[in-house]
Amino acid sequence: MIFTDSHAHIEFPDFDEDREQVFERAQSSGVQYILAIGSGTGPHRLRAGLEMAEGRDGVYATIGIHPHEARLATETHFQELGQLAADQRVVAVGEIGLDYHYDHSPRDVQREVFLRQLDLAERSRLPLVIHCREAWEDCLRILEERWKRTGLRGILHCFTGSYEDAHRGMDAGFYISFAGNLTFPKATNLREVAAKIPLDRLLVETDSPFLAPLPHRGKRNEPSFVRFVAQQLGAIQGLPAEEVGQYTTQNFLNFIRQGQPAKPHAQMP
Ligand SMILES: [Zn+2]
Ligand SMILES: [Zn+2]
Repeated sequence: MIFTDSHAHIEFPDFDEDREQVFERAQSSGVQYILAIGSGTGPHRLRAGLEMAEGRDGVYATIGIHPHEARLATETHFQELGQLAADQRVVAVGEIGLDYHYDHSPRDVQREVFLRQLDLAERSRLPLVIHCREAWEDCLRILEERWKRTGLRGILHCFTGSYEDAHRGMDAGFYISFAGNLTFPKATNLREVAAKIPLDRLLVETDSPFLAPLPHRGKRNEPSFVRFVAQQLGAIQGLPAEEVGQYTTQNFLNFIRQGQPAKPHAQMP
């Protein structure tokens, strides 16, 4: 069995006590690739993902300023992002985007920081990991106008939108990544959307330590639980979890090869 967790925050203090065991459990449950998201707890921690990827086979990093902390971004942070983008283990810029649910940063600041990071990603020829919550119209419009023409791809992470949103995203070159909320009893609409996404655009993720899937809902999430998301997606698509694991792993490898030479660990499963 082979699985890929396309979105995890393993540097969070939730894992300070047993981080190595968490990585070991992931490996022993077939999780061969993990994307360590580098937005950390704010722009003062831009190396968060890289630290997780260092010395660990199959763990790749992103760099980026989350929309929640957009108001904290300074010129120094943008410079640092530019330097980190050259690191071999950085495979994407993210998670970046817009969050109008929490509005932790003013919306115009969120948009400005989002756009600046799109410039950076394009210059560095890196694909995107997008966080979008209750901001679909703005987010998709920006991606259609600003990203589609680059020919680079991206991931709509922890997807919660409508099928029309997903369709617009796919049209602009994006993969649709589902998280643990796909397993929740009330997520009927989301499961209906997931049923219509073609196999070559699907990804699964945990968003660890958040959003643990059933049967672990409410507890700390970890990459080894990604198989429960794959199981649920398989049930929706009429496939065994192992096949979902294979397709989503292949999609992930195609994603990280974007604009980059093939890397030693990015071989076909
Ligand atoms: Zn997110
Ligand atoms: Zn996240």
